[in-house]
Amino acid sequence: MSNVEQRLGQKVSPSLVYPFLRLLEGEGLVISNERNIGQKTRKVYSLTASGRTLCNKLFRQFTTIVSSAIEPSMEVCAHCGCHVYKDAYSEEIKGRKVVFCCKYCAAAYTKDR
Ligand SMILES: [Zn+2]
Repeated sequence: MSNVEQRLGQKVSPSLVYPFLRLLEGEGLVISNERNIGQKTRKVYSLTASGRTLCNKLFRQFTTIVSSAIEPSMEVCAHCGCHVYKDAYSEEIKGRKVVFCCKYCAAAYTKDR
């Protein structure tokens, strides 16, 4: 529970988490084991192979969604070609605004010309 709360940055209700874990276990996506942690015996959940496969598939889909959402607003550094999401550095060169990832790329770019 504390790991989930730490990752989400907010309080999570046990009445949501434990039924969800039981559902995942019923689907064969996680497996639970009793483990002695400190003085207490606790139920520890781990991903099964099919749970891991599903997570990897979901992460790939999520990555595709996020990149297609931010890709149009990205700029490309004129020197190194890296993509800049926010706060790109730019200089006016020969009356034209040229975008860079940093001032060092801008300096290298103008030196090369
Ligand atoms: Zn650059």
